[in-house]
Amino acid sequence: MNKEGFAQEILSRLQEVLPQGRDFIALHEPSFEGSEWEKVKTCLDSGWVSYAGEYVKEFDGALAAYCGVKHAICVNSGTSALHIALMLAGVRDGDEVLVPALTFVASANAISYLGAVPHFIDSDEKTLGISPEKLESYLGDIADSNEKGECVNKNTGRRIATIVPVHVFGHPCDMDKIGRVAGDYNIDVVTDSAESLGSLYKGKQAGSFGKLAILSFNGNKTITTGGGGAILTDDDELAEQARHITTVAKTKHPWKFMHDRVGYNYRMPNLNAALGCAQLERMDHFVAQKRTLADKYEEKFVDMEGLSFFKEPEFAKSNYWLNALLLDEGNEDALENILETTNENGIMTRPAWDLMNTLPMYADCPSMDLERSEALAKRLLNIPSSAFLAKTE
Ligand SMILES: *Cc1c(COP(=O)(O)O)cnc(C)c1O
Repeated sequence: MNKEGFAQEILSRLQEVLPQGRDFIALHEPSFEGSEWEKVKTCLDSGWVSYAGEYVKEFDGALAAYCGVKHAICVNSGTSALHIALMLAGVRDGDEVLVPALTFVASANAISYLGAVPHFIDSDEKTLGISPEKLESYLGDIADSNEKGECVNKNTGRRIATIVPVHVFGHPCDMDKIGRVAGDYNIDVVTDSAESLGSLYKGKQAGSFGKLAILSFNGNKTITTGGGGAILTDDDELAEQARHITTVAKTKHPWKFMHDRVGYNYRMPNLNAALGCAQLERMDHFVAQKRTLADKYEEKFVDMEGLSFFKEPEFAKSNYWLNALLLDEGNEDALENILETTNENGIMTRPAWDLMNTLPMYADCPSMDLERSEALAKRLLNIPSSAFLAKTE
């Protein structure tokens, strides 16, 4: 089949899965079919729209319970959450932090906010996340340890404090293996679970792994608070610090303004938390719908040559946040045509992110060979994934 024919075939199969009669189908849109209006109205009626209010506490509690962690601290974005999580994990100016090259830019940005340097790691074709095998052999080559037993990059002399596994498109990466390698080298794990609320790794929430983890509730994520994120941890002390730092480090006093360190104004407003509480009530429904949509795509593309539908790794139950088609090797040339044909016909599709090491501000950062990420980035295509698209009518 020529490139045009191939792109047309993909378009028509997508059209067969997706609801008819819409001019445009976005990659991911929110649904507000639960108590969203009612809860947001409660904020407006009571005047509690800002940084204090019952929904903030309620959302923290509900998130922690849902994720199976002791503490959740909701904040104003996933990026803020990662900034503070990395700070609390002890990342300092001049450190290196291991992070996949195949991720959204926020994962690397949060590292930079602390004056640390992102150090790019290759990915695995089965999970789209960090390859534990490549990580292990790479650390075997470059890692040294200092007098405190901390991991140091032989080539740069910088401490490698932390690793940030990312559950790409919601699919859990192999946390046991990554955690074991990190542990062997005394490297802390901070999980970027921004895309994977509702995804299970060996039966546990993908955001429940690591010293700390983060979530995002941006408008395009599985559930949204408009903008928002959360820090997750089982550590009481870290949770208390997270709460303190994200509320301008204000100490408790009935009227005085006292602050005991440089804090951040990162707390989630009550208005957004109200939306979050309503959305989280619908979480099981959203995951079920998204998995139904993924099943439909899989069925529709199973017999098509030249590509495959990307399926969750065998140890995972994924939220299928963003569904993806993976072009066969040798078929990369077809990507541009498919993007054009689908987008011109009102079905939004996107390639994977440009790899972090190709962005101007990260071009000089340390990196292992990124052969697999480079190959994956040329072959991945995200297709519409909103939960409500699973409806048949
Ligand atoms: C969305 C996302 C973030 C950042 O979340 P925001 O809420 O948009 O700041 C971080 N990492 C990954 C992998 C994401 O997809």
